[in-house]
Amino acid sequence: MTAADTQIVPPALGEPYLLTPGPLTTSRAVKDAMLRDWGSWDGDFRAMTRAMRTGLLDLIGPGADAYDCVPVQGSGSYCVEAMLGSFVPKDGKVLVLANGAYGLRAAKTMEYLGRAFHLVDKGDYLPPRGDEVTEILKEDPAITHVLIIHCETSSGILNPVEELADAAHAAGCKVLIDSMSAFGAIPLEVERLKYAAMVSSANKCIEGVPGFGFVIARRDELEAAKGNSHSLSLDVHAQWAHMEKTGQWRFTPPTHVVAAFLTALEAHAAEGGVEGRGARYARNRDVMVQGMRDLGFETLLAERWLSPIIVTFFCPADPKFDFDAFYEAMKERGFIIYPGKLTVVDSFRVGCIGQMDEQVMRQVVAAARDTLAEMGVASAAPPAAALEERKKLAA
Ligand SMILES: *Cc1c(COP(=O)(O)O)cnc(C)c1O
Repeated sequence: MTAADTQIVPPALGEPYLLTPGPLTTSRAVKDAMLRDWGSWDGDFRAMTRAMRTGLLDLIGPGADAYDCVPVQGSGSYCVEAMLGSFVPKDGKVLVLANGAYGLRAAKTMEYLGRAFHLVDKGDYLPPRGDEVTEILKEDPAITHVLIIHCETSSGILNPVEELADAAHAAGCKVLIDSMSAFGAIPLEVERLKYAAMVSSANKCIEGVPGFGFVIARRDELEAAKGNSHSLSLDVHAQWAHMEKTGQWRFTPPTHVVAAFLTALEAHAAEGGVEGRGARYARNRDVMVQGMRDLGFETLLAERWLSPIIVTFFCPADPKFDFDAFYEAMKERGFIIYPGKLTVVDSFRVGCIGQMDEQVMRQVVAAARDTLAEMGVASAAPPAAALEERKKLAA
């Protein structure tokens, strides 16, 4: 890999940029890596699986030798379910810290598993805080694990993962992290966080294509997970034990996706690893947010909680603004944005991850400016109710 390989190359003619937090815009090299077939039992593919597991462990910093990486077929939610079902014993109890769709999905997963949980629902975007966790754990000594969503992708909030993990550990609980949309761009050093297990997937900050996710867990937790799982295909211990013994996945792996992911991992390293990747995403965010603010748009979140992954904007109050028309016009200009997920006010989201740099983000802002002009929207300022809502965040 040379520096030229890390250059951002626009997608093929007529293919829009995906300003969505996975699937996202991938490089030509990643797509090209899928143009050959692999035998899943063959030594070449086993070596690829090994290289991928090692490459991912390299991203968690010193102390990684106490951990191992277990890929799991399916999308990210399969991995969340695999993690909860494998590491939480049948008589365990999980404190689920939710502030958006993914936290609520984890709670729903616990319902399906039929295992005990305590849900803290902070609404659309307020961050759970360490002192509340301390309080709850004091009142409910049955809780054994705390599930933290690292970046809650539904609003783009970057949750205070260290503060939350510290509170959990102080009460003697184990920490599980859904770092789906953050891992690879935001540090998740095991030395600092000491999590029992975390999950992420191929099509987020490593910039691969969808098809599998992975669990990174302490080896002693992997050993202890034997017999916990409710599910044959989502049993992390069984997948790990089989992989250790044979070098193979238990059931058919997404071979092309793994090949693409290895190419993506090489590009990630060439860009400077977690630090380099995170820095590009942060520049993407800064340039895009500043440009959008200059047009009158306002972010849902205060500066402090803005992630470099995805940003939520309020829809303008101007009656001439119509989100569906805005979406279509942005798509025509080469950019697929993301509808919002807030319940109280209208919003939309713009992702900062994938094969895009600040040049591209400037084009995104220009496309938004032209689209507003075309729609006859004079100001992108949000309704007063939206700003009222946002004030709650500061409280
Ligand atoms: C993407 C994502 C998931 C998994 O979603 P899938 O659609 O199953 O891939 C889970 N949690 C978070 C925070 C995510 O961003």
